[in-house]
Amino acid sequence: MCTLGLLVCGCVHAPSPFAPHRAGSVGTPSRGVLTGGAPLPDQGASYKRLRHNDRRYGLPRFVDAITRAADSVARERPQSMLVVGDLSAPHGGQLLPHHASHRTGRDADLLFYVTTLEGAPVESPGFISVGRDGLAFDKEQNRFLRLDVAREWLLVRSLVDDDAARVQWIFVHDNVRALLLEWAVARNEPPYILHRAMDVMLQPHPGGPHDDHVHVRTACTDEEILTGCEPTGPTRPWMAKGTHDKPQETAELLRMLVESDAP
Ligand SMILES: [Zn+2]
Repeated sequence: MCTLGLLVCGCVHAPSPFAPHRAGSVGTPSRGVLTGGAPLPDQGASYKRLRHNDRRYGLPRFVDAITRAADSVARERPQSMLVVGDLSAPHGGQLLPHHASHRTGRDADLLFYVTTLEGAPVESPGFISVGRDGLAFDKEQNRFLRLDVAREWLLVRSLVDDDAARVQWIFVHDNVRALLLEWAVARNEPPYILHRAMDVMLQPHPGGPHDDHVHVRTACTDEEILTGCEPTGPTRPWMAKGTHDKPQETAELLRMLVESDAP
């Protein structure tokens, strides 16, 4: 049976009577569809959705990973509430406003954790742009807020340390990336975590500045590839079967950090 998502997409690789094995995340994030997606409920113990629309669907394992990451932040910083933007439409496929991808259940926008200028945690009011100094202006309430680097790093750390999440990308502005990595190095985070975070955090060109949220993309599993998930972009070494992160010295990581963030 055709769905609106499939019709709008018109994808040659869409599930059809001629390709009954195609299911799940089918195609690429910018050209594909989603079947059997799981909806992220409007609210969980440690997250809430920004808008109550139907752009809440993702691969079930990816939806679980988002919830796990939010829970992990809240365990270390009680009462933390991750505000979640769009995932995909129920059957993906559609070109959604403001998104070139988000069509196959493998993308999610997560708003930043923020605090008041005094450092009190507050819920993100929505998409507010963070500058080089870590400050953002909240027009609705006519106030400055501050990127909560500590909690945002906990989120990134949870995502990249979660092998089931298979985080391929965390698209984010260079300024925020630099703030997070600087914090992580100061905290003496394990080298493999720093290595992963440095690899996946990227300001895409083109693709918008991503100075008001992070956009997380999960990579296809081998099983998903067999049912139509089309891999794009780099393969992360820690996701390959039987491989492990090579230990790297902190000094080398620091050098990479400085070089990659040099103007
Ligand atoms: Zn996005």
